Amino acid sequence: MFDIQIAESAGFCMGVKNAFNKALDIAKDYPQTVILGDIVHNRFAVDEIAKSGLNVVEDIYEILNNPDIKNVIIRAHGITPQTYNLLKENGKRVFDLTCPIVKKVQLLTKQLSNEGHDIIIFGKKDHPEVLGICGYCSTNFIIISSDEEAKSLTVPLNSPVLISQTTMNKDSFCKIQEILYANYPMLKVHNTLCKNPQRTQDAALKLANQVDLMVVIGDKKSSNTHSLYERIRTKVSTLFIEDCDEIISIDKSVKLIGLTAGCSTPNFQIESVVKKLQDLQKE
Ligand code: SF4
Repeated sequence: MFDIQIAESAGFCMGVKNAFNKALDIAKDYPQTVILGDIVHNRFAVDEIAKSGLNVVEDIYEILNNPDIKNVIIRAHGITPQTYNLLKENGKRVFDLTCPIVKKVQLLTKQLSNEGHDIIIFGKKDHPEVLGICGYCSTNFIIISSDEEAKSLTVPLNSPVLISQTTMNKDSFCKIQEILYANYPMLKVHNTLCKNPQRTQDAALKLANQVDLMVVIGDKKSSNTHSLYERIRTKVSTLFIEDCDEIISIDKSVKLIGLTAGCSTPNFQIESVVKKLQDLQKE
């Protein structure tokens, strides 16, 4: 027989929870609404949004060219001000559910750029949050994703400032700073990392020290859930699952199971795993 314990912080972060719940509310009141891109990298959350009647549209021009689309939801990752203006100019009602923390980074970027700083963004080049932030740069900007790219960055930059995609790893961000100082000794750094993914990782690591088995719940395509799994598996035997049906049985030697979930994992996905484990407890 085993016990189950959920980490103190697990699942949807504040920004995603807010966007997800508000999108479902908007779907009820405004039928001709679409969402610009998947709400989050989690197929269960995406399915739930689809069930509410909201269609996901990836291409902005598909929205602009369709007069039947009256309302557009902006997800937590945010968009560029140029895209926002295009939607408004074309008469679309915009429900902006950009996470307040991402919004803060966008406005900081705009301010720094207006002051004349060139911007170095540590993040993933095709990540929607990063693409949105780039739109706030009126000076030169460069996205770097790895130590190698930081090392090979030598172009002249005007009073460069380093910022980060909110969900990057803290240690990697510190390392990137150190590397960049070699070529840009006057570099200024703004730590724009979000504390929510870190809080989830810390809570999961704490729990991992007390249990026989950890279960990480989330979409395998979610990068924050992947990072969580990579950290936890160094501490204790760990399962990374998307669906409760992936758990068939629990080894008799396991006395305590810890559960955690990425910032893009909805509560109902966690609850379904808890339910499955409770059923196995009874066997
Ligand atoms: S991880 Fe942080 S910045 Fe990103 S959506 Fe969640 S709360 Fe907002």
